[in-house]
Amino acid sequence: MADHASPITPTIDLDGEGVRHGFLKLPHSRDESAWGHLMIPITVVSNGDGPTALLTGANHGDEYEGPIALMDLAGRIRAEEVSGRVIIVPAMNYPAYLAGKRTSPIDGGNMNRIFPGRADGTISEKIADYFQHHLLPLADYVFDFHSGGKTLEFLPFAATHVLEDKAQEARCVAAMKAFNAPYSMMLLEIDSVGMYDTAAEAMGKVFVSTELGGGGSATSRTIAIAKRGIANFLRHAGILKGEVEIGPTVHLDMPDASCFVTAEQGGLVEPCVDLGEAVRVGQVIARVHSIERTGQVPGEYKAGLDGVLAGRHFPGLIGPGDCLGVVAAIVEDEV
Ligand code: CA
Repeated sequence: MADHASPITPTIDLDGEGVRHGFLKLPHSRDESAWGHLMIPITVVSNGDGPTALLTGANHGDEYEGPIALMDLAGRIRAEEVSGRVIIVPAMNYPAYLAGKRTSPIDGGNMNRIFPGRADGTISEKIADYFQHHLLPLADYVFDFHSGGKTLEFLPFAATHVLEDKAQEARCVAAMKAFNAPYSMMLLEIDSVGMYDTAAEAMGKVFVSTELGGGGSATSRTIAIAKRGIANFLRHAGILKGEVEIGPTVHLDMPDASCFVTAEQGGLVEPCVDLGEAVRVGQVIARVHSIERTGQVPGEYKAGLDGVLAGRHFPGLIGPGDCLGVVAAIVEDEV
């Protein structure tokens, strides 16, 4: 819907040839800046015929492998390496990214819960609406980097979803394998309504995301996975010159909601298993101690299935209802 009116204006041509760095310019009148704008960085690289890839980071503002890998890519990619087009938005929820927070400090918007957005909505809804109606329709391949953020930490994995369209699912799985993270996950979402993932998949796009570490920071190891993986993804799409570099990956699956271990009390977390360790159903993965008094019996939280600890609560203290751990099944027969 090219005629869908958005308040966002790109400062660069999304269609012309070559490398262009600019902004998605979104009016944001506020106390500090009457008649001001949010200036969301964007890079577009085009060269001749070929597919379009849309690459994003900081859908959640406290997840850093994506913005780092994409700032690096935007700074070094040359048009002659490309066949088709790459659109790079390193920080999708730009206000959240500037604040170092998961959600927007302007309107509380969680970018991955508000799709398709609204052109006449809040700042976060306007950004979502622009992706829904102006950027996603341009793309054949869509990649959205996530990490655990300040409250979670994950094994480094690339992820796709089970889809009704099995041919589309196979294309997504092939692209996930090409990204070639140390772990590859068929991801079960707790709450898929309003997700960018769901919006892209509903349009028939090849969509891959990640969870690469977390804790509100990044490591040289997870950044290297992100940089190598996104180059592999673009090579797989036929957009970037060069061969896909494939190393080993462990295939994981989240078969049902028993994967999630949720705290039922607040307290002090004692991890009993670390990320990547094998666990058996019924095994205690963490204990939660009282923060109020001594002599209390700690709560014990157990794995709901056999597998590997793939995610964990990151801060030392936890609240009731917080995600304490994620156990994923290892898929042995995957090649
Ligand atoms: Ca995230």
